[in-house]
Amino acid sequence: MADKRGGYDFHRSIATYDRADVVVIGGGPAGTAAAISAARCGRNVILLEKSAQLGGMGTLGNVSIFMPIGNVTGLYREIIREVLAEYLPEGHDTSIAPQYSPFLLRYYFNEKMKKEGVRVIYHTEFIGAVKEGERLQAVIASTREGLRAFEAAQFIDCTGDARVAIDAGVPYTSGREEDGLTQPMTLMFMMQNTGKPVVPILPEGCYRYEDVSELPQGRRLYWERNKDGQLLVNMTRVKGNGAKIEDINFAEAEALRQVFSVANYLQRNGFETYALAHVANQVGVRETNQIRGLYTLTEQDVVEGRRFADVVAQTNYEIDIHSPDGSKTTDERHVSGYDIPYRCMVPSELTNLLVAGRSISATHVAMSSMRVQPTCYALGQAAGIAASLALADGCDTRSVSIEKLHERLQAGDVRLYKPAAKA
Ligand SMILES: Cc1cc2nc3c(=O)[nH]c(=O)nc-3n(C[C@H](O)[C@H](O)[C@H](O)COP(=O)(O)OP(=O)(O)OC[C@H]3O[C@@H](n4cnc5c(N)ncnc54)[C@H](O)[C@@H]3O)c2cc1C
Repeated sequence: MADKRGGYDFHRSIATYDRADVVVIGGGPAGTAAAISAARCGRNVILLEKSAQLGGMGTLGNVSIFMPIGNVTGLYREIIREVLAEYLPEGHDTSIAPQYSPFLLRYYFNEKMKKEGVRVIYHTEFIGAVKEGERLQAVIASTREGLRAFEAAQFIDCTGDARVAIDAGVPYTSGREEDGLTQPMTLMFMMQNTGKPVVPILPEGCYRYEDVSELPQGRRLYWERNKDGQLLVNMTRVKGNGAKIEDINFAEAEALRQVFSVANYLQRNGFETYALAHVANQVGVRETNQIRGLYTLTEQDVVEGRRFADVVAQTNYEIDIHSPDGSKTTDERHVSGYDIPYRCMVPSELTNLLVAGRSISATHVAMSSMRVQPTCYALGQAAGIAASLALADGCDTRSVSIEKLHERLQAGDVRLYKPAAKA
């Protein structure tokens, strides 16, 4: 029936497809780590992923590099050991920035989830939360068989956009405090050295860039893997918020136009033997929504290197803001290291929901530093343990024992190498 705004009330009876102790929504860095770590606590875990693969922006978006955070620890360390052993450092408190094959990582996660006993359900997109009071009862997802419900005692929102939390009524913000603008989107692509000159192609409607200043980022930004002649290119840039229908629609088409245009430029300027080899499945989204949790990580916390008693992740990744306003600049500022507290993942409105990954409670500047993959793995790992502890202790996620959380993190090979602040 149409309502006054021209919309519809939508009532349906939806069959429950399955239930688990913990349902994780979104299989990016945060979601994969959350699912594995909850499963390792002995929980029955279902992971819902809207695409056909795990790894999030790291595979789907072809990001293909782990940025350095000064702490190679926990599950992230395990991934390095199992996929990129040549980069594994001896100590935890160190920095690496390995480039990897997104195809290999995708394959690795499929196999890893089987070994860990996590049930992954692909092509399943969260669309709605079913609540009773402060408790999330089920999530409704669009599956290949239509709408289905998934029930759990604990839920972890790792959609990157805080989709579940927002639908369940958790307050959120987007982008810069002054105007709500988010970091731009980038469609990543790869070129391959063919060993012989290629004919540069420029499809109709693309741009013929002549100078670096004309490039979308105003700079050349790529990584070369000399051993296999592969060039990973991060040089497209489209203004907008990837959680908005019109912005992402525009970005998908415009970013692809830029891919062909940049590839053509590179083929005329230093990469004469390189052919376009792979374009990411979808435009990469850096920033959309941040929940308002029990604590909001701020620029000051990052700049002053604050420590917290309920620390769950430590990073020294820089402040890294690709300008949200359409200009070609990037605000990059060195950071010496800070803590991310558990409370950034905890919405105050619900008893059994955590939010891990880039959409935790953080300001625009703080998220620009915490958003990289190794940090998201660390947050996911902590969220999986916390959800399991809440179940074991019969408490809600707002009052999980930090002492036990730290013990379990340590048992999961996590080293928080800087002393935590006193409670
Ligand atoms: C262009 C670009 C370059 C970057 N460069 C680097 C870099 O060099 N190094 C680095 O470490 N980091 C980099 N980052 C940052 C990093 O990739 C992301 O911040 C990180 O992947 C976020 O992890 P996440 O798990 O929070 O979310 P995401 O990686 O966004 O994963 C979210 C997952 O949830 C799924 N999902 C979303 N909505 C739903 C739904 N409704 N139902 C079910 N599933 C859903 C998605 O399909 C996805 O698999 C870059 C990001 C971008 C966009």
